[in-house]
Amino acid sequence: MSEIFKIRFKESIKRTPTVESFRFIPEKKIYFIPGQFLQIIFDKDNLDNKELNKFLSFSSSPNKDYIEVTKRISSSEFSKRLENLKPAVEILAKGPLGSCVYNEDYKRIGFLIGGIGITPVISILEYIDEKKIDTDILLFYSNRTSLEIAFKNELDKIVFNNPKIKIIYLVTDYSSENKNCIFAKLDKEFLKSYINDLKDRIIYIFGPPKMVEEMKDLCVYLGLMKENIKVELFTGY
Ligand SMILES: Cc1cc2nc3c(=O)[nH]c(=O)nc-3n(C[C@H](O)[C@H](O)[C@H](O)COP(=O)(O)OP(=O)(O)OC[C@H]3O[C@@H](n4cnc5c(N)ncnc54)[C@H](O)[C@@H]3O)c2cc1C
Repeated sequence: MSEIFKIRFKESIKRTPTVESFRFIPEKKIYFIPGQFLQIIFDKDNLDNKELNKFLSFSSSPNKDYIEVTKRISSSEFSKRLENLKPAVEILAKGPLGSCVYNEDYKRIGFLIGGIGITPVISILEYIDEKKIDTDILLFYSNRTSLEIAFKNELDKIVFNNPKIKIIYLVTDYSSENKNCIFAKLDKEFLKSYINDLKDRIIYIFGPPKMVEEMKDLCVYLGLMKENIKVELFTGY
């Protein structure tokens, strides 16, 4: 059940030059399923204010004593409000929201992720790691350069602890700094080489609407079953 509750700002963590996480202590325990999102509210008098009240995915597991969201920082007023939060300041949030969630019954999962779409995946992987769930995961995580890979250290640690989790980092801009990444686009040609492995997985696609729609169409074109494809559009990009 979604509700409005108070959250107290704790701290922020810079993930990349343009991506930042924000941690809050909720006034009470918030029960959510990894993959869900919430609305961060800066204008409580007008909940319809789309500029100041925006949706962000949980980027931490539900078992933490804080909740975390992660934003691609822009010049918008909403970004400024987040960045200017002072410790202990209280704001409102509404949630949990969304039905594109992790399900423990899925034994084999594939994630097709570009950029900021990684946020709900972090929540899911942290949860799997904490609970030592035996899910077989294949994550394709595409960014322009390796400097833009948010949560790289956290992801590498999860892979180290969970032999059934495999991550393939893709970069689209060639640079010698892009170590341990594949220089390729997450496109038809690339996915074709993994198609046998993807066919028997539940596929999750999170991110900006254009990217999600393209990835979904591609999966269907490559013969993956529609009912095995779960998507969440980050509307507002
Ligand atoms: C389910 C869901 C989960 C999301 N999770 C995340 C997340 O984890 N991290 C993250 O960074 N973002 C997430 N988003 C997107 C987020 O809500 C913001 O829209 C996004 O971060 C851009 O905000 P901004 O203030 O930087 O952009 P702005 O600078 O305000 O806007 C960027 C562009 O989008 C357009 N726009 C703004 N609002 C809307 C709207 N409501 N509908 C259509 N177009 C709009 C603007 O005109 C502009 O062209 C999520 C969105 C949804 C719906």
